[in-house]
Amino acid sequence: MTDTHDTRAATGTSQLVTSPATQSEDHNRGLQLGTATIESFADVTPELARVVVSIPDLAAEPNWVRPNVAIRFYLDERFESATRVYTVRSANVVAGTIEVDVVRHGATSPMMLWLDTLKVGDTVKFGGPRPHFDIPETGGRDVVIFADATSIPALFAILDQADQGLTGRGWVATSDEHAFSELPALPGLTLTRVAPGTGFADELATLPHPDKVVVWGAGERDEMRAVRSFFRNDNGLAKDDVAVFGYWRRGTTNTQIDMQRLQAYEAALAEGRSVHDLDDLALAI
Ligand SMILES: Cc1cc2nc3c(=O)[nH]c(=O)nc-3n(C[C@H](O)[C@H](O)[C@H](O)COP(=O)(O)OP(=O)(O)OC[C@H]3O[C@@H](n4cnc5c(N)ncnc54)[C@H](O)[C@@H]3O)c2cc1C
Repeated sequence: MTDTHDTRAATGTSQLVTSPATQSEDHNRGLQLGTATIESFADVTPELARVVVSIPDLAAEPNWVRPNVAIRFYLDERFESATRVYTVRSANVVAGTIEVDVVRHGATSPMMLWLDTLKVGDTVKFGGPRPHFDIPETGGRDVVIFADATSIPALFAILDQADQGLTGRGWVATSDEHAFSELPALPGLTLTRVAPGTGFADELATLPHPDKVVVWGAGERDEMRAVRSFFRNDNGLAKDDVAVFGYWRRGTTNTQIDMQRLQAYEAALAEGRSVHDLDDLALAI
């Protein structure tokens, strides 16, 4: 895998951090902006680092313990001053810490370099918790789930607090057997590990009634776009029944993705709309 960082991306980083849009009340409503401290970190597998981070006043903000909330790390200038979004896998209110799983994806990138230099006691600026999407209301229907290594933490947090009566199927595209095996088991939900990197067309083709399910998915942007289009466009599912999000894009840094998001967001604000009105997967990234 190649390192796609360039001066454009680095310039974009400062724009992302200083833009009035990303500093606006609309963008940061309910977010805690502060400095976190690294309590511990360990390689759970060669593909996965688990970082425990202490958050000041964590107990004062109930959103930290909600299923599937995200945190944005503001890395320092050693890492291009890049900002990167990760999922809170779990939060410990008593200890005031959160657990974040970082997939080691093999590129030379700000987050991978950050991991390589990490020491206990290091600090990092953050913004969070930002609530992300849960499994849609099922109304008695099955759920179908599509995840990759980067969304295992989100799925972990969701299933950890899910209704035990949830039924359905899910496919997790990862080579990390251990990370997959840690996912909570629910009696009515069958999760299957599949090979990463090829998309979910084969799995989509096996669904007997794709118009009678709710959908949760997160992972590579183009793969998720195809999943969403299958349910929304080909099978007519309603918007609220399909919670599918792109977490990263093959061959594109998240700095570049965030720059394009920022432009769309600035345009939305100028038209009197909010961050909540943006359809991320519809952006031409
Ligand atoms: C809401 C949300 C929650 C997320 N939660 C998590 C999480 O809990 N754990 C997690 O590991 N990631 C998570 N991600 C994804 C993570 O933010 C991206 O993978 C991010 O791009 C990594 O930053 P980087 O600096 O390492 O790579 P970048 O600088 O963004 O990219 C450098 C190169 O690496 C490639 N790349 C980036 N990520 C991957 C990957 N996963 N696999 C293969 N190639 C990749 C890019 O395509 C690019 O070519 C989440 C993203 C979002 C939006």
